[in-house]
Amino acid sequence: MELVDTHCHLTESPLKEQLDGVLTRARERGVTRIIVPAYDHASWPAVRALAHLPGVALAFGLHPWEAGEEIEPKELKSWLQDCGAVAVGEVGLDFKIERFDRAVQERVLRAQLEVACDLELPVLLHCRGAFEEMLVILKEYAPRLTGVIHAFSRGPELAARFVALGLCVAFGGAVTRPQSRAQKAVVALPLERIVLETDAPSIGLDKIPAAEVEPLHVADVARVVAELRGVELGELADKTSDNARRLFRLR
Ligand SMILES: [Zn+2]
Repeated sequence: MELVDTHCHLTESPLKEQLDGVLTRARERGVTRIIVPAYDHASWPAVRALAHLPGVALAFGLHPWEAGEEIEPKELKSWLQDCGAVAVGEVGLDFKIERFDRAVQERVLRAQLEVACDLELPVLLHCRGAFEEMLVILKEYAPRLTGVIHAFSRGPELAARFVALGLCVAFGGAVTRPQSRAQKAVVALPLERIVLETDAPSIGLDKIPAAEVEPLHVADVARVVAELRGVELGELADKTSDNARRLFRLR
């Protein structure tokens, strides 16, 4: 069984201090590929420094929480190309934070969606409190754009709208919580559009606090999703890993 963690911040504490152990424990649970997104300019070199690690793939972008930084499309392109990145991310909209104007966030997002389309790279999308606005923007870039709406915690209707635009939906900690709407979404979607992630160390699983989550826990996400969908764990792992390999062109 092989699994892919399509979103994990290995550059953050406590993961960055114990990379060898984190990667070994992940491999022991079958998690062989991990995509590590950057989120601001300072994190770009930190992410690039992980390029040599086995099974680690990189993404570069400017997160909406850091939308005050200037995004220079040419510079982003060279980072993506020079480092062999598999995605643009993480990028998105977060209207639950007050730090930046919505217009600023939208401008920064659009600039990075352009880059993704130009380089034919998928995007890792963060979205909070801005789903309608996000869908309007994505509609402009479909069908050139591919990618995932990450850390999905909402219901099946919203998930289907992203899938209709050609995107995949990434499920992590939220889907392991029994009362989560995401459990209904993960059952309703076509399996070809589902990928898995942890977003470690940012999001907890059912009974596992965020600070303790690491890539190995994508195996627990897979177990829950397999149970919900009524399929064997091996089949769920194979299919979702194929989806991730195809989308991010993982070797
Ligand atoms: Zn993230």
